Amino acid sequence: MFWEGAKAGKLMLPRCTTCNRVHWYPRLLCPFCHSRELEWIEAKGEGRIHTFAVQHRAFGGWTDEVPFVTAYIDLHEGDRMFTVLRGVDPTKPESIRIGAKVRVEFEQASDEVSIPFWRVVEE
Ligand SMILES: [Zn+2]
Repeated sequence: MFWEGAKAGKLMLPRCTTCNRVHWYPRLLCPFCHSRELEWIEAKGEGRIHTFAVQHRAFGGWTDEVPFVTAYIDLHEGDRMFTVLRGVDPTKPESIRIGAKVRVEFEQASDEVSIPFWRVVEE
């Protein structure tokens, strides 16, 4: 469900219909109340930077990307998502603000898979 949404440019998140909380990453049980009553919702695709780190080492397909910035995003709907931040300068971490507003975007990795990234937007 998540990847189908991503392919269509939508950020889909699991929500528990028992406690109404959204969680990330997807699980079989709600991590807050352990209910199995989960549904998928389309998220606004907005959030704020909770924290970030500049990566100077990587492996696999990310080797050529260093340095780059990873971050935890506080999602508008709740909970937190780990991501790569786009549109920031990894050589100037002081220019990246905790709490800055970010918006999701999707990058096509293959015919079948689009991967979500987040980008800082003006407020
Ligand atoms: Zn729950």
